Amino acid sequence: MGIRTGAQYIEAVKARKPEVWLSGKRIENLFEEPVFKQPILEIAKLYDMQHDPEFQDKITHVCEETGERVNNAFLVPKCYEDLVKRRNVFEAFAKATFGLMGRTPDFLNVVVTSMYYNSWFFEKYNKNWAENVRNYYKYMRDNDIFLTHAIINPQNDRSKTSHEQKDTYTHLGAVKETPDGLVVRGAKMLATLAPVTDEVIIYSFPGFAPGDEKYALAFAIPIDTPGLRIICREPMQDGQRSFFDHPLASRFEEMDALLVFDDVVVPWDRVFLYNNVEAANKLYPMTGAGQQPAHQSGVRGLVKLEFATQVAMKVADTIGVDGYLNVQDQLGELAQSLESIRALLKVAEYEHTMTEHGEAMPAYVPLETIRGLLPKMYPRAIEVIQIVGAGGLLMSPTGADFESEELRGSIDNYYVGREGISSLERVSIFKLAWDLCGEAFGQRLLQYERYYTGDPIRKRGIFYNNYKRQTPLTMVDEALKGAQLDNKEALTN
Ligand SMILES: Cc1cc2nc3c(=O)[nH]c(=O)nc-3n(C[C@H](O)[C@H](O)[C@H](O)COP(=O)(O)OP(=O)(O)OC[C@H]3O[C@@H](n4cnc5c(N)ncnc54)[C@H](O)[C@@H]3O)c2cc1C
Repeated sequence: MGIRTGAQYIEAVKARKPEVWLSGKRIENLFEEPVFKQPILEIAKLYDMQHDPEFQDKITHVCEETGERVNNAFLVPKCYEDLVKRRNVFEAFAKATFGLMGRTPDFLNVVVTSMYYNSWFFEKYNKNWAENVRNYYKYMRDNDIFLTHAIINPQNDRSKTSHEQKDTYTHLGAVKETPDGLVVRGAKMLATLAPVTDEVIIYSFPGFAPGDEKYALAFAIPIDTPGLRIICREPMQDGQRSFFDHPLASRFEEMDALLVFDDVVVPWDRVFLYNNVEAANKLYPMTGAGQQPAHQSGVRGLVKLEFATQVAMKVADTIGVDGYLNVQDQLGELAQSLESIRALLKVAEYEHTMTEHGEAMPAYVPLETIRGLLPKMYPRAIEVIQIVGAGGLLMSPTGADFESEELRGSIDNYYVGREGISSLERVSIFKLAWDLCGEAFGQRLLQYERYYTGDPIRKRGIFYNNYKRQTPLTMVDEALKGAQLDNKEALTN
């Protein structure tokens, strides 16, 4: 089949019957549930972009193996130009969603593509796992599958490993082997967009200890596999709010969910790793499953930071405060943050390395620097919007107020912006800004940027240790050569 259309994606959503729980209710018809409907339509637009002449050649390519057109996220990058082809789709999808949807289909498609090309890693432990990964990649690519993932254990007692938790199956673990497959029980979090995806992939960050064997798992299954329960967090919007009042929250709500596996049977041909602590700890660093998607999230994060920066600038301009030095200082800071990330991305692509298996890997240091900086830069951008927008952010009237004949005169007078900015224009911009910086929707976006790629503090610690290993401190030694004591004897006394 190759690239799907938006309509085909929606048909697939309608055809599946996953066990989705939202605010205490089981949702039977996902597409008709207002909380999910608009986000489904937004994702459908991304699938349609693959068929749009404006984008098609930029974001898709003809697969050498099948002759069918497939998304560039499925391209194994072998050179700089391939990285650019991948960036094109990351950028196009991010721009279509203003970077606000982090888990668009390209994200996990890159993860699985990387696992596929590094199937040598799985082969080292088990030939079947490697074969399963290769087949799964082809299935995803040829059917344009949309995945969610859950790599974190539920947040119960973080001072204990999986096998030390109070209940054996709080964390997802293997229960038994059967002829049909591996039976798994327990929970994983935090599966963004799970209700509206086709399948889920499970793997983990490193951190398994001896004794955790049954929790060392990687597999993928359809999202409506029997026994898989999806418990959604409280929605940030009810799906009934108007586009005018909540121009972002009404469109780009990415639902997050806890996945509970109640003795789910994972067919053997979908098991990628099992019962091996060493393999589970090495999967993330060794298969590119960490580094390749950092390219996608860097591009997406850049678009989101650019959007937040533009919103801050627009807010300031709308009320005529961007001539003040203190405001310029803050907006200038945002622009410099943005340009630093843009430059780092270019460096990551230009300075890519070729792995011994021939995969072009965007450079580690700039990508990890982005991963370390964005969790600080994005919250700062949100803070600047709050500071510059000030009290005005809290006093926008509603669309209904604009439509009231009686109120119209007051609204036109008192909500007007600087010269040339009508009340409608000013209020529209402030509503957009409030969705981003004040609403629960915006707070989730901020929390996403802090944590979507794991704990930024521990990530920076790992980065520091790697950096130290690769960076001999020779300049200090060189400088110390000129700092000898005049009295050499003092050294020995
Ligand atoms: C909006 C959003 C969307 C997400 N989407 C997904 C998704 O689609 N799929 C997915 O798998 N995950 C997703 N994540 C989860 C993300 O991977 C985790 O939030 C992240 O890995 C941090 O884990 P945690 O939230 O369990 O925090 P914890 O690990 O519980 O950390 C809590 C606090 O304790 C500290 N801490 C905990 N353990 C240690 C330790 N060993 N050493 C030092 N400090 C420690 C941390 O620094 C932190 O301050 C998402 C997260 C968010 C916020």
